[in-house]
Amino acid sequence: MQLTLESARALDARDPLAKFRDEFVVDDADTIYMDGNSLGRLPKRAIARVREVVENEWGKRLVRGWGEGWMDAPTRIGGKIAQLIGARSDEVIVADSTSVNFFKLVHAALDAREGKKQIVTETVNFPTDAYILQGIARTRGKNITYVSPQNDVAISTDAVVHAIDNRNCALVTLTHTAFKSGAVYDMRAITQAAHDAGALVLWDLSHSVGSIPLALNACEADLAVGCTYKYLNGGPGAPAFLYVRRDLQEQLFNPIQGWFGQKNQFAMDFDYAPAQGIARFNVGTPPILSMLAIEAGVDVLLEAGIENLRAKSIQQTEFLIGLWEAWLKPFGVTLNSPRDSKIRGSHVSLGHPDGLRIDRALIEEMNVIPDFRFPDNIRFGIAPIYTRFEDVYCAMERLRRVMTEKLYEKYAGERPMVT
Ligand SMILES: *Cc1c(COP(=O)(O)O)cnc(C)c1O
Repeated sequence: MQLTLESARALDARDPLAKFRDEFVVDDADTIYMDGNSLGRLPKRAIARVREVVENEWGKRLVRGWGEGWMDAPTRIGGKIAQLIGARSDEVIVADSTSVNFFKLVHAALDAREGKKQIVTETVNFPTDAYILQGIARTRGKNITYVSPQNDVAISTDAVVHAIDNRNCALVTLTHTAFKSGAVYDMRAITQAAHDAGALVLWDLSHSVGSIPLALNACEADLAVGCTYKYLNGGPGAPAFLYVRRDLQEQLFNPIQGWFGQKNQFAMDFDYAPAQGIARFNVGTPPILSMLAIEAGVDVLLEAGIENLRAKSIQQTEFLIGLWEAWLKPFGVTLNSPRDSKIRGSHVSLGHPDGLRIDRALIEEMNVIPDFRFPDNIRFGIAPIYTRFEDVYCAMERLRRVMTEKLYEKYAGERPMVT
C-alpha cells in the first residue's frame, strides 16, 4: 500500500462497499469523522423509519401499535443482530442499556454458580462493567480477580487462563474488543478454559458488534451484552442487546422481574413466573422510538456483509498504522493498539503525553473528530460501512500538521466534560 492520497483514492474507487456511504447522512464534506466507535453516523433509512413511527404508528395507530410490530421488536431486531454475532435468532433480544443488561446477566450467572466466589475480569475493562461488578461483588460477597496487560496493549489468553481458580470461579467476564487499545480476545480459547473450570463466560461485545464477525455459538459462548449506538449506528442512547445461549435460557433467571419478562404477560397474574426462553430477560416497556431506529442501521450492515466489513476494516487500520509509522512515530507518537490485525478491532489508538491537547487541536482546527481516552489515547474509529481510505489519509495528514506546527501548544490540558 502506497502512502499517498492518490493510492487512497484508488482504494476507494475499487472498494465494493463504497456505495454504502450514501446510506448515511454526511453533510459536512470537510469534517473527517473518526468516532463511529463511540457514536455511529445517522442512517438515512432511520430518518424515514422514525418519521413513520412517530407520524403514523404513534400518531394514528396509537395503542394498537403494540400489536402491529412494537411488541415483537425486541426479538425481531435481536434476531437480526444474532446474524452479526453468530448466534441463533431466538438467543438475542434488544432491551435496556448495556449497563443494565450486564447487571442482569452477571446476577443470573452468579445464581447459576451459587457457592463459587471468584469473578475474573480485566483492569482495562470498560468502567461501567467494572463498577457494576464491584457493586455486585460487595453485595453478594464475591471476589474479583483482575488480569492486566503484560505489554501495555493486549492481555494474553494465558494470563486469563492462569487467573481462573479451577475450584472457585463462577464467572469470567471480559470486553471482547478493548475500548482503549482495540485489542481483541480469543473468544474460543477463553470460553473453553472457563468451561473447563466450571465457570460461565459473559462477553461485552460493545466494540466488536458490527465491526468483527463473531461466532458465539461456535465458541459455545454462554452470555453476551453489547451496544447498538456504536458500529450498529442505532442512535444516541439506543437500547442495547443481550444474548443467552439457548440451552441456558431455562436455567437462568432475570434478577429484575419486570412484567415484560413475565409468562403470559397480559394475564396480569399477581405472582411472577418467568417467560419461556430469551423473553424472560426483558424488564419493562421498551423505548419504541429509539428501538425501531436501530433496525435501519442493522439492515444496512447485513446487506454489506460482516466479513466484507471486516476485510475493509483491516485494510484501513493497516493503512492508518502505515501512515503513523511514516509520519507520526518520529514525533514520539506511540501505537497503543496491537500491531497484529488478527487481534485488533476497528479502532486504532495513538498515544502521546500531550494527547488531550492534540485531540482538541484536531477537533477545533483540523475538523478531524477522533476521541480521547485517558491517560494518553487518541482513538481513531474506523467504521468501514462509511469511512473512506481518503478519510484515513487526510486524518493522519492533518494530525501530522498538528505535530509539525505544534498547533496543540495553545490548548490547555484540563479535562473537558466529555472526551
Ligand atoms: C460503550 C460501552 C458500554 C456502554 O454502556 P451503556 O450502558 O450504554 O452506557 C458498556 N460497555 C462497553 C464495553 C462499552 O464499550
